[in-house]
Amino acid sequence: MNRKLISICTILLGLVVISCNNASQHKRNSVANPVAIKESTSVKQIANTPALIYAKPEVPVLCYHRIADGKKGDYTVSPATFASHIKMLADSGYHSISPAQLYDYLVYNKDLPEKPFMITFDDSRVEHSTIAAPVMEKYGFRGVFFIMTITYNKKNYMTTDEIAQLAKAGHTIGLHSWDHTMVIKYKEAADWQKQVTEPKKKLEKIVGKAIEYWAYPNGVYDHKGAAELSNYFKLSFTLASKRDSIVPLQTVRRMIVPEWTPQGMHTSMHRTFGAKKI
Ligand SMILES: [Zn+2]
Repeated sequence: MNRKLISICTILLGLVVISCNNASQHKRNSVANPVAIKESTSVKQIANTPALIYAKPEVPVLCYHRIADGKKGDYTVSPATFASHIKMLADSGYHSISPAQLYDYLVYNKDLPEKPFMITFDDSRVEHSTIAAPVMEKYGFRGVFFIMTITYNKKNYMTTDEIAQLAKAGHTIGLHSWDHTMVIKYKEAADWQKQVTEPKKKLEKIVGKAIEYWAYPNGVYDHKGAAELSNYFKLSFTLASKRDSIVPLQTVRRMIVPEWTPQGMHTSMHRTFGAKKI
């Protein structure tokens, strides 16, 4: 009899403990719920596969080097020509996008503004901050400046303050290696350290933001180097070469803009990147 009573008591006690546990569980859930919902929405963002990224219509990405009078060649445009290109793009209803927007479009199918394009500059020339940035800002455009960090504070190149100022004005700063050595020549860990890891860290200190984008010196890459760069950067930009279908995010194509008329530039943009609607 006593034993029966003890076992009934044990069962009752057990029920009380279970119900208390449930109550505290319920309380914990109700507090934790908002966080759980937030987490589940970010988890729901499934990244596109490389094949899907590769199949998406390309956004035109322009690439400028020198902006100066009296020089000829593919890598120089005059200040007047540069201004005429920017004015044509603004008058034609184009919207400059950032690499972050391009990444979200390629990977997560995020929307882009109408007639998107990107404007990029290589080699840290001083005129990028004294000539190009003010012209772009006049039309509400923002650009991407790829810095080779050996040029800090040298004659004809941007100072570290000018680079920081560009970032503050809403432009994006990317890396273009330490001394312009091509990626296909990085053989040892020490090469990656010298050309990528260290300059990336220093540049991040200067602009106070993560450096997440890379432009290949001379536009040259191989599959191995491109795959390795995905450990450092969200996107890497080539020049005119074909994209790599396995690592399309690390082989984003650009178009070098020489001394073209605005109409000539517009035609080339369409010819290079296609007229497919984004
Ligand atoms: Zn370069």
